[in-house]
Amino acid sequence: MVEILFCLAVLAGVIALGMYKAPLWLWAAGLAFTALIWQTAIHGSAGIFGFFLWLLAIAFGLLAVPAIRRAVLIAPVFKFVKGTLPKVSDTEAQALEAGTVGFDAELFSGTPDWDKLRSIAPIVLTPEEQDFLDGPTEELCGMIKDWQVRHKAREVPAEIWEFVKKHGFLGMLISKEHGGLGFSAQAQSLIIGKIASRSPDVVTIVMVPNSLGPGELIEKYGTEQQKTYYLPRLARGEEVPCFSLTGPTSGSDAATMRDIGIITRGEHGDVVGIRLSWDKRYITLGPNATLVGLAFRLFDPDNILGKGENIGITVALIPATHPGVQIGRRHLPAGNAFPNGPNWGKDVFIPIDWVIGGEKMVGQGWRMLMECLAAGRAISLPSSATAGTKAMLRFTSAYGRIRKQFGLPVARMEGVEEPLSRIIEAAYANEAARAVTAAMVSRGERPSVLSALMKYQTTERMRQSVNDAFDIHGGRAICDGPSNYLQCAYQMVPVGITVEGANILTRTLITFAQGALRSHPYLYKEIQAAQDPDSERGQEAFETEFSDHIAFSVANATGAFFHNITFGRFVVAPEQAYEMAHWYRQLGRASRNFAFLADLTVAVLGGALKTKQKISGRLADALSELYFLACVLKRYEDDGRLSSDRDLVALAAANGLFRFQEALRGVIDNFPLLPARWLMRVIVFPLGSPYRPARDALGHRVVRLVLEAPEVRDRLTRHIYVSKDPDDPTGLLEVTLKKVVAAEEAEKKLERAIRAGTLRRYHGIDWIGEAMAKGIVTESEGQLLREVEALTARVIAVDHFDPAELKPNYGNVGHNSRSVESAAAE
Ligand SMILES: Cc1cc2nc3c(=O)[nH]c(=O)nc-3n(C[C@H](O)[C@H](O)[C@H](O)COP(=O)(O)OP(=O)(O)OC[C@H]3O[C@@H](n4cnc5c(N)ncnc54)[C@H](O)[C@@H]3O)c2cc1C
Repeated sequence: MVEILFCLAVLAGVIALGMYKAPLWLWAAGLAFTALIWQTAIHGSAGIFGFFLWLLAIAFGLLAVPAIRRAVLIAPVFKFVKGTLPKVSDTEAQALEAGTVGFDAELFSGTPDWDKLRSIAPIVLTPEEQDFLDGPTEELCGMIKDWQVRHKAREVPAEIWEFVKKHGFLGMLISKEHGGLGFSAQAQSLIIGKIASRSPDVVTIVMVPNSLGPGELIEKYGTEQQKTYYLPRLARGEEVPCFSLTGPTSGSDAATMRDIGIITRGEHGDVVGIRLSWDKRYITLGPNATLVGLAFRLFDPDNILGKGENIGITVALIPATHPGVQIGRRHLPAGNAFPNGPNWGKDVFIPIDWVIGGEKMVGQGWRMLMECLAAGRAISLPSSATAGTKAMLRFTSAYGRIRKQFGLPVARMEGVEEPLSRIIEAAYANEAARAVTAAMVSRGERPSVLSALMKYQTTERMRQSVNDAFDIHGGRAICDGPSNYLQCAYQMVPVGITVEGANILTRTLITFAQGALRSHPYLYKEIQAAQDPDSERGQEAFETEFSDHIAFSVANATGAFFHNITFGRFVVAPEQAYEMAHWYRQLGRASRNFAFLADLTVAVLGGALKTKQKISGRLADALSELYFLACVLKRYEDDGRLSSDRDLVALAAANGLFRFQEALRGVIDNFPLLPARWLMRVIVFPLGSPYRPARDALGHRVVRLVLEAPEVRDRLTRHIYVSKDPDDPTGLLEVTLKKVVAAEEAEKKLERAIRAGTLRRYHGIDWIGEAMAKGIVTESEGQLLREVEALTARVIAVDHFDPAELKPNYGNVGHNSRSVESAAAE
């Protein structure tokens, strides 16, 4: 018994030394002391256990001597890691160094500093930004007729183009100094979101000029001349930009582009320029563009610029009317109406000062793109996907309350509650993460890891919400036509999933595999040290990082184990966490587990991490859940800790932690090395799996809340466009919902009478009139029921067409591929 107690005390000592990152000499002293007590007071002799303790104490003691540590540990490890750590290519290094590291590093640390997240501003707009959101943005949304855009014209109408140009929508990110609106990232995010909730096609023409492309690149890297000439023209919409990076052979692997520029002299040998040949596809706004931002590989075979032959990826601005530029016809992306198409050129000569930033920026294209991508990816797609999710909630909660089957609104049925509560959770969590991330960008951060995570998570959650909304609407969502308000979102889902880094790649390669390098406190520094051509200097730098890394790993392993066996009770919650302290503790515990697992995964897999994508994908999911849950807790605080929101937080937290746990379990169950798998299981799941999904009762309460508290529904769908026009299909939902709620009691009386057989509800019978005549409902209730009946009939109606109307309106379809060679042949 005493021996068991002693062993438990030793375990507690080890946990304490590990968690507090004790130096090696303290470990040695502690082990020696333990061995002595064991030998003298507990066991009577050293025995095998005592011998083992002495051995460890001596080993730690020796390692505490710097010269010995260097010779027996650091030097061999340094040699080993040189061979096993992931190699970082030039383009990867530029991607890694491009953005900033922010709260992601806290999650990788295992001990997040919550105040760093809590100190980020909640949603703040300047009066001018707020006026723009409430004025021109609202007006624009009101002008849009989705069916006209998406089907009839298959075109964003000229008056919408005119409106967005006139009001400066195309220059939101261009500074005021250069004629743009100079809006913050938060404002851009909210404006984009509002338009997206109304029309994914229209938001695309606003979003593209305000994300990675000529405007941003000129603003950041352009020459003075490019800034003064182009920026005011772009801001006023006198130039329509597109950005051409993708080609038939270079999609996700954009850096392998075959588009080429050769440094050459003009006809008279005086002007230095570039002879370009390229073939691009999928280019949004391409068919309408007047200014093409083109990415290509630049070579200088005669070394005219003195920078060597292979200069690297370069970006230039080419007027669409420039001789040789071919703007192709249009693609038809998932049936959407926004302009998208190929462009190409062969031996097109451009002056060198068309390179963005001029001659000094040749070869800097990839770095420029990566730097802008880190911020842009955090805004455009997360904003539109979040707005899409909120719109799904707004429409589906109304429709589910209006549409009745089996005498009940479908939203009140348990089976429907399930997908509806998923939409509610997604809308709450997406908006929480969107707002925090946009605020980070507003204050100057360029979060590369978080932006990748946001891109794939918000669009995936939107995809699920759109599917859930479809299921709840049944056939009403499937039959397309002017009264269908869901199809536009359904058509746009695959676009959001694919652009700006297709989701599979973003999840499995970018978020964790690059994220671990970027956000891990020591890993990237160790790789840089290992790749240092000066081996001696490299080893020296490596020693410091590696020693700290070991202490960090031991702290996370012991910390994770301790918090797992104590159910997270001893994790320190931040000050004033109040009723959220429990979730903060669980999040802290989860973060320790993630940090431990991430660290061990990278150490064991090394360079193989890039190919073990099922492992890295699950770790990306786990990291995402931590980030989203942290944002959910922040949103709750920013929104004023409303008691009505506690269940929403609980729903998101319980499900988020469960998904987090399943992701970790997936990593461990499939980890390729058996001893590592055992160790992971002992540390992370010593007492089994602690988390369960949110209980059915919680989902039920949350759905009830949204259906019965209009202010909660409004808050959950804030910042999207809400029509009040009964002649608009979404406005009709709002108007009808109000009447349905008002008529609830009268409806119950009517239903009771129908069930009792007092009334019959068939075509050709005026059952409401009969109900009034029989005194089942009062006169005014009867009138209200008539109104509800008429409105509901319109809400549930679907469109039908004359067959001639449905004939494809694409005209004659041409050849389906383009290449420089075929262009030359024409
Ligand atoms: C509607 C639309 C608009 C677009 N607008 C523009 C634009 O304006 N400008 C522009 O330059 N480009 C644009 N694009 C291109 C877009 O960025 C690419 O489609 C995207 O990068 C993916 O390339 P891909 O379609 O060739 O797919 P592929 O690269 O062929 O990928 C196919 C699949 O394999 C996965 N995959 C690829 N590599 C890996 C990997 N290493 N690990 C794991 N999975 C991987 C991808 O995730 C994807 O699921 C647009 C595309 C579309 C569809």
